Amino acid sequence: MAPGGIINKEEIESRIAYLDHDTGHPATSNAELRGSPFRKAATPSTGNPGKQSTSNMQDLLDCPVCFTIMYPPIFQCPNGHTLCSHCRARVKNSCPICRGELGNIRCLALEKIAESIELPCKYQSMGCCDIFPYYSKPKHEKNCKYRPYNCPYAGAECSVTGDIPLLVKHLRNEHKVDMHDGCTFNHRYVKSDPREIDNATWMLTVFNCFGRQFCLHFETFHLGMSPVYMAFLRFMGTEDEAREFSYSLEVGGNGRKLTWQGVPRSIRDSHQKVRDSQDGLIIQRNLALFFSGGERQELKLKVSGRIWKEQ
Ligand SMILES: [Zn+2]
Ligand SMILES: [Zn+2]
Ligand SMILES: [Zn+2]
Ligand SMILES: [Zn+2]
Repeated sequence: MAPGGIINKEEIESRIAYLDHDTGHPATSNAELRGSPFRKAATPSTGNPGKQSTSNMQDLLDCPVCFTIMYPPIFQCPNGHTLCSHCRARVKNSCPICRGELGNIRCLALEKIAESIELPCKYQSMGCCDIFPYYSKPKHEKNCKYRPYNCPYAGAECSVTGDIPLLVKHLRNEHKVDMHDGCTFNHRYVKSDPREIDNATWMLTVFNCFGRQFCLHFETFHLGMSPVYMAFLRFMGTEDEAREFSYSLEVGGNGRKLTWQGVPRSIRDSHQKVRDSQDGLIIQRNLALFFSGGERQELKLKVSGRIWKEQ
């Protein structure tokens, strides 16, 4: 399961595919699926008879198929088994609990009851302590500052999400990213055939500084018709935290120099978004080759930089 208790899409899909596959010999995991949250909700509370707690209510609102909270329209089969609209669209009109025909029955009573309750943010386990009325919960969760971050590694599809410590470990262990301590850096980018440009040419280096992590991106792409190199910094944390820092980048050679000063972007902004906004040091390829010296046959760029904290 993904960090933060989020069931990923693959899991949901495989689960539903499994239920669709009616062999007449229900496997144990199928029986377990039929039981858990649904039965928990349907069994009368043993602790406090007469007092329906919010957590019992929350169990009732969990979809028995995907285990996420249901929002209207909530559906039910003729036998009363409830189902979220997302799962209903995928189960081909057959109730995943009783296998009966699903039909088109709304569960208005449950939708109404839901209006009256308040629920904790789904990122509670990641530190969010807020509680919200049922209907405003999704809006908060979309922007909750405790929601997991996407892996900042670009250039390859990576679906890993999590908090910052998890992602730092992930970058080091899975992507073998270079990690450096310190707030100043000197980096060399060398490419033997700089004519060969494709959007996959890029590098990522991570700096540990002020106890936080900064991602230095360096890449090649076409800006309009012109081949360019671009370097920029992303901060592993929220937008607000990112604004507490500044950075500078410097590249040059042959007696010339380009400098850039900017504010690191939060990794909440995708790598692509930062690149498209051109919020970084952009070097035209011709200039880059000039900086590289020699016969302009090889790219040898020295990028130096510094990160500091604004007062
Ligand atoms: Zn569902
Ligand atoms: Zn049913
Ligand atoms: Zn939250
Ligand atoms: Zn990754």
